[in-house]
Amino acid sequence: MIARVTPNPFPHLLAPLDLGFITLPNRVLMGSMHTGLEDRAEDYPKLAAYFSERARGGVGLMVTGGIAPNAAGWTKPFAGTLSGRRHLARHRLVTDAVHGEGGRICMQILHTGRYAYHPLAVAPSRLKAPISPFTPRALSDGGVERQVSAFVRCAALAQEAGYDGVELMGSEGYFINQFLAARTNRRSDRWGGSWPNRMRLPIEIVKRTRAAVGRDFIIIYRLSMLDLVEGGSRWEEVVELAQAIERAGTTIINTGIGWHEARIPTIATMVPRAAFSWVTRRLKGVVGIPLVTSNRINDPAVAERVLADGDADLVSMARPLLADPAFVVKAAAGRADEINTCIACNQACLDLVFENEVATCLVNPRAGRETDLVYRPAAAPKRIAVVGAGPAGLACATVAGRRGHRVTLFEASAEIGGQFNMAKRVPGKEEFHETLRYFRRELELAQVRVLLGRAAAAGDLTGGDFDEIVLASGVLPRVPAITGLDHPKVLSYIDVLLRGRPVGASVAIVGAGGIGFDVAEFLSQDASLAATSQDIPAFMREWGIDMTLKERGGLMPAADTASARKIWLLQRKPTPPGRDLGKTTGWVHRLALKRRGVRMLAGVAYEHIDDRGLTIRVGAETRLLPVDHVVICAGQEPRLELLAGLEGAGMKAHLIGGSKLATELDARRAIDDGSRLAAAL
Ligand code: FAD
Ligand code: NAP
Ligand code: SF4
Repeated sequence: MIARVTPNPFPHLLAPLDLGFITLPNRVLMGSMHTGLEDRAEDYPKLAAYFSERARGGVGLMVTGGIAPNAAGWTKPFAGTLSGRRHLARHRLVTDAVHGEGGRICMQILHTGRYAYHPLAVAPSRLKAPISPFTPRALSDGGVERQVSAFVRCAALAQEAGYDGVELMGSEGYFINQFLAARTNRRSDRWGGSWPNRMRLPIEIVKRTRAAVGRDFIIIYRLSMLDLVEGGSRWEEVVELAQAIERAGTTIINTGIGWHEARIPTIATMVPRAAFSWVTRRLKGVVGIPLVTSNRINDPAVAERVLADGDADLVSMARPLLADPAFVVKAAAGRADEINTCIACNQACLDLVFENEVATCLVNPRAGRETDLVYRPAAAPKRIAVVGAGPAGLACATVAGRRGHRVTLFEASAEIGGQFNMAKRVPGKEEFHETLRYFRRELELAQVRVLLGRAAAAGDLTGGDFDEIVLASGVLPRVPAITGLDHPKVLSYIDVLLRGRPVGASVAIVGAGGIGFDVAEFLSQDASLAATSQDIPAFMREWGIDMTLKERGGLMPAADTASARKIWLLQRKPTPPGRDLGKTTGWVHRLALKRRGVRMLAGVAYEHIDDRGLTIRVGAETRLLPVDHVVICAGQEPRLELLAGLEGAGMKAHLIGGSKLATELDARRAIDDGSRLAAAL
């Protein structure tokens, strides 16, 4: 018999890394990601389940979310802390669970400094951060010493709790970073002033930590390689610091890109994949220890390319492992097409954390809920009809199918995806293709019978063929009451994004919600050029990032980005347009459109549409917008035409996604609805 050998599909990514005292099985580092489960002792069993699932998934090395070394370093009041032996037991739950699965885990020590969202904040100087309402207290020399000791004590406790190492958070504008940059360090003592004085703090922390934990313990230092703020570090300083912390005893250097107060997107979905690995590469050969690169690496082929090109020794992925805990085992088994890819939307992870909720994932509602949302094999397989293959129906059909139910999925159009087929056409939202690829494969694996081009009628569902009926028929665009709505100038967002109807040189968009903004993005970009989300140098020019690294903080003037059309984006509410977009990404959309010259008007009353254009009233003023087209993006209503027929036949249906409730519907809720129903059927 000839043995079948599966070739290693990702030889660089899956190569072990020998650190001398521990060998990592591959080059995937699960980057630190605050989930919110770190903050309360009673949530640690959930945190342990979250990490053990990812250890089982084969990640080389994981890093926890930020844990404060003392109260001053908290992100918010009573955030996760490791400052005394009383905290050890909860951390041991995590380390035991991870080691039980054969994994390895480091704890991130995060001191927020002036980014703290509480009144105990301390910093090198008394300078308020633009992203916190609290002004920090400037530390005395003794105060700085006490913070250094807190880091060291925290690392020693982490070792006692069973962690394989610590990551010192030295980037993103937190405490250590605040000492490094003249922008935030105005001191004149031994901790400030000259560059050697400003970098004293991280060097002392690393040196004293190494002395406390001994040789065989990982120390990762997260180094801010590109600050992206005025008054940030020069590249020469980054190099000098990297060499100094290597000498001080660091095991691995991880890449940090951009302070949190920077006004340049660094991880959102419009950032090209692996956009910043060129920065890490500049440090290759300058230090002898392994380097980790980071930001928007969400695909094993991209990770492999980055490593094969020699940009780094490891890749950090945080959100991609929220989206799919089995990322590494799937990649290793030649099943990369089964990976549930992170689309970098931030909607269910970072946005939720900013709202003080526990993080989860839009494409994987089990993330952070591993003990609550469990997909068990069905006790008695049922025949289930799912109507609609949008995100809600797809999630429901695939989870139910995986559990062993016999599922038939009806879809009226010729392809699966529902509104994702529009979202994926918006420049900067190309990642939505990946979710559709994932679902297509899941439908096969879950053996779902898919009927495309089949608009289900009540009669298809009431003949006794099905034990359960799920309506996931989504939404229909809302038709607003505006005089002249039947004018040929008027288009819906579906005409523009799906049907490809031509749009003139001047456009008014009625409705400035998520879809109105996306339509403005679509119409303002030149369709003959590749989107900047697909072109790293063009993205850097658009956002003013200096790829020569000559400028302090890596900043240069952003390129002019004129809109391809004259666009008005309108809403009736008097509040600033786009205020309700995602917490961590809304500012990117607003800024990008503003820089392209899109005019945003709030407090608008729509008068009428005619050959001349759209007439509106803003306050006391009546204005004619002389546009070629008016695109209606005025929200949506549930699509429920099937329901009456079903009820008439005495059948009950489960409603999920848009067909259940169109208000504040998004894909996160649609997928969550579908998955939870399928888990319960
Ligand atoms: P839908 O996606 O509307 O799917 C319903 C499906 O049912 C359709 O495929 C339809 O053809 C089918 N159907 C209807 N009736 C029948 C029938 N009788 N028989 C068979 N099939 C039927 N959300 C986010 O969270 N983040 C984003 O960034 C985002 N961007 C977006 C960008 C755009 C341009 C658009 C249009 C939407 C965006 N959304 C986004 C919203 C998101 O796509 C929706 O919330 C989500 O698709 C709703 O899922 P659903 O399954 O409930 O409905
Ligand atoms: P939406 O966010 O509710 O916005 C609807 C817009 O239409 C609002 O600006 C609203 O503002 C206006 N409007 C409502 N009724 C109107 C009427 N009768 N006449 C005129 N204008 C009216 O809905 P959407 O843009 O259709 O998006 C649908 C869902 O998809 C949303 O829940 C959204 O979260 C999601 N989505 C998310 C993203 C994302 O990036 N996260 C992107 C796209 C879509 P006024 O009432 O003030 O005029
Ligand atoms: Fe990625 Fe969005 Fe999931 Fe966050 S919520 S992990 S960004 S897919």
